[in-house]
Amino acid sequence: AAKNEGRNNVRYYSSEMTTRALERVVMETSLRAGLKNGEFIVYFQPQVNGKENRLFGMEALVRWNSPTVGLVSPAVFIPIAESTGLIVELDRYVMKHAMTQIAQWYKEGLNPGILSMNLTMKQLQQKDFIEYLKTLLAETGCSIEWVELEVTEDQIMIHPDEAIDILREISRIGVKIAVDDFGTGYSSLSYLKKLPINKLKIDQSFVRELPDDEEDVAITKAIIAMAQSLNLDVIAEGVETAEQKDFLVQNGCINIQGYFYSKPKPADEIRTILIEGL
Ligand code: C2E
Ligand code: MG
Ligand code: MG
Ligand code: MG
Repeated sequence: AAKNEGRNNVRYYSSEMTTRALERVVMETSLRAGLKNGEFIVYFQPQVNGKENRLFGMEALVRWNSPTVGLVSPAVFIPIAESTGLIVELDRYVMKHAMTQIAQWYKEGLNPGILSMNLTMKQLQQKDFIEYLKTLLAETGCSIEWVELEVTEDQIMIHPDEAIDILREISRIGVKIAVDDFGTGYSSLSYLKKLPINKLKIDQSFVRELPDDEEDVAITKAIIAMAQSLNLDVIAEGVETAEQKDFLVQNGCINIQGYFYSKPKPADEIRTILIEGL
């Protein structure tokens, strides 16, 4: 209808819609500038063996320190970075900085363990992704055994057959792959079996109400059992309380990530943890 109204069609758009469109353009422009000006910071969140209270790795989580707005949550800007394609460049920036930092800690004789990085399927689809990763490994002095890539279950399930092919190629060079936000994305056992993955990350929505919510108890136990039968590691994210941690460890999920042990922190604070312990 609006199409046939000729040059007056502009009045048919709601002001709310144009405001949002404008916000997106502004955001995209400032994201682009932020990348150029180095406004993105990599935080790290410890991943811990909950049986021994021993740190075995950490997840890189990006933060945007905008000169106009201050610290911006990735929940706000990652979706925009994804829809504009900027995510490819942003995640390469994060990879470079996180891998440089991890290698630095190893050089100092510290033990940060495995570095887990969040990537989108769009990144993995880039023709030069493996080449980029290999170049980064060489440049930073990061060993491939230290690196793990996280892809969300729903991203994998958009085009599962393509994802299987791409992830196979990537795992062939020795990189570990974890399925993030697992349990929210409807993957079938038959696909899981075909995917060259090493680890399932139990989504925090199932952890939040443990051990009281019966459904979450059932889902969590089912994911742990699924991981065990497929010979995969399993880790729970969003673990905030001792009760949640104890429930998970007692039920076979010893790998724990969450505020109970540590929030995501900037490199200097993580360095203190590596020296003094959790
Ligand atoms: P995610 O990969 O599932 O990361 C876990 C999120 O849960 C992080 O939020 C983390 O700070 C938060 N979290 C960890 N432990 C707890 C806890 O005990 N309680 C609560 N309430 N939250 C906890 P964050 O850092 O805001 O990141 C949100 C999402 O943004 C991430 O979810 C990931 O999907 C995306 N993201 C973050 N950094 C990157 C990145 O460098 N690249 C890409 N592509 N995505 C990223
Ligand atoms: Mg993640
Ligand atoms: Mg997650
Ligand atoms: Mg998430």
